[in-house]
Amino acid sequence: MLGASHAIMSFALVYGATGRVIPASVASAGAIFPDSIERIVCGRRWMKYHRKWSHWFPPYLALAWLTGKYLEANPFPGLIESIGGDLYVPVGPKSITATAAFFLFWWLVGCLLHLAEDAFFGPMPLLVPWKRQRLFLQVFKTGGLAERVMARAALAAAVVLRYVDAAAGIVV
Ligand SMILES: [Zn+2]
Repeated sequence: MLGASHAIMSFALVYGATGRVIPASVASAGAIFPDSIERIVCGRRWMKYHRKWSHWFPPYLALAWLTGKYLEANPFPGLIESIGGDLYVPVGPKSITATAAFFLFWWLVGCLLHLAEDAFFGPMPLLVPWKRQRLFLQVFKTGGLAERVMARAALAAAVVLRYVDAAAGIVV
């Protein structure tokens, strides 16, 4: 899958699921990471290492689980305080770490979505980072018309879904 399709698809999935633009945007940025890190680390030889160590899910999942647990204990909106009717986020070590954890969490969600999306495009590492296995039938070809159409259709579906959801909220 192309970088742009990963970004659009992951935005659509998170926005569709949460209805929140900031987590969706952060996830969209994270969805570019697993491919771009290969180019940064391996340079021109990135193709040799494509979808290997950078596409191995356990480190992403472990870190996402840890930050998720941290956010559960320190909920991001809970940090907003009200003084005399004015809302503000106190700047201190706690709010800074919670903000960092919030961004890191959604960024990791984007990375994990990238891996899930790639599984439909070819073999992925599963048990060990250096050996790729075919998980699903390879349905799509990278750069094909199908992935472009699919990513944009998912985005349109997510926006419509959220619009209908919001409209229903007004009616009821
Ligand atoms: Zn990839």
